[in-house]
Amino acid sequence: MKAVITGGAGFIGSHLSDHLIAQGHEVVVIDDLSTGSLDNLSRIRSSPALRFVQGDILDRDLVDSLVEGADAVYHLAAAVGVHTIVDNPLRSLRTNLHGTENVVEAAVRHRVPYMVASTSEVYGKNDADGLTEHDDRIYGSPLKSRWSYAAAKGLDELVAYVHGTESDVPCVITRFFNVVGPRQTGRYGMVVPRFVDQAVSGEPITVYGTGTQRRCFGSVFDVVPTLPRLLETPEAYHQAVNLGGHEEISIKGLADRVVELTGSESEITYMDYEEAYGEGYEDMQRRYPDTSLARRLIGYEPTRDLNAIID
Ligand code: NAD
Repeated sequence: MKAVITGGAGFIGSHLSDHLIAQGHEVVVIDDLSTGSLDNLSRIRSSPALRFVQGDILDRDLVDSLVEGADAVYHLAAAVGVHTIVDNPLRSLRTNLHGTENVVEAAVRHRVPYMVASTSEVYGKNDADGLTEHDDRIYGSPLKSRWSYAAAKGLDELVAYVHGTESDVPCVITRFFNVVGPRQTGRYGMVVPRFVDQAVSGEPITVYGTGTQRRCFGSVFDVVPTLPRLLETPEAYHQAVNLGGHEEISIKGLADRVVELTGSESEITYMDYEEAYGEGYEDMQRRYPDTSLARRLIGYEPTRDLNAIID
């Protein structure tokens, strides 16, 4: 089987490349290396089963030529990380909207089953009980650049779904909830690698907000093998499927755990969201995935706890 992985030199994409090649498949990676890196592919770089193409998913002809003749497309390329999005909202919109359109259209044109990576951010702030025009709690305000990521991913889901159902080409939308593991970088705001980097280098560990907000972290080693399985499961077609871990922890608790596991002497400090991310930034208090659909479809059960993930 030949799989095209967009964003295959990124964190999740490179683990998926490893996994598919270990299973005897051919992999074509397209990545512009904006947040990904060739180092992430070092384990498989010399494998004849890997073809790496440095390119942009906005290049419609390139995407089309790579997808033609493939057996599966995994679309993971995106502008990610709060800092990237807030600093370059236009670029993220283009990549996350038009890039996805290019990939999905190529998959449908060549009738290749495809997976599109989405995010728990499409659930918005999730605690709204009455909405005004000034309410930021769904996606955040449309007029703030932070909104571009969640909104574009929401539209990506629709593009994937509508093309898939109209053409009857299999597609699966995966909603990732804080997937973590080796190769994830803390440079773009991801909390676990950022805390680990700060702990290991002895810098203060910076908690944004009060630290009482609760999250779950899923291991990339639990999530990645589910992607090809979902794409081989007709009951999953044209659905959005949550994927993530179940061990819930506050961000302050996470900082304590990182200090304990790394034996660091770093102190834990606090910074307002607004100072970290700019004016008007808020975050939800809790984010916990219901993964029962993935369990029903393919028996998904995350097995790695937070200690195993941080180790
Ligand atoms: P990542 O930044 O490591 O991977 C994204 C990859 O896409 C990078 O290698 C980057 O260089 C590449 N890329 C960006 N723009 C591109 C373009 N225009 N053309 C070609 N390549 C481009 O991030 P990740 O955590 O591996 O995320 C993978 C996917 O999963 C993304 O779609 C992301 O939105 C989604 N996601 C991830 C998480 C998570 O917890 N890691 C959570 C929700 C959603």
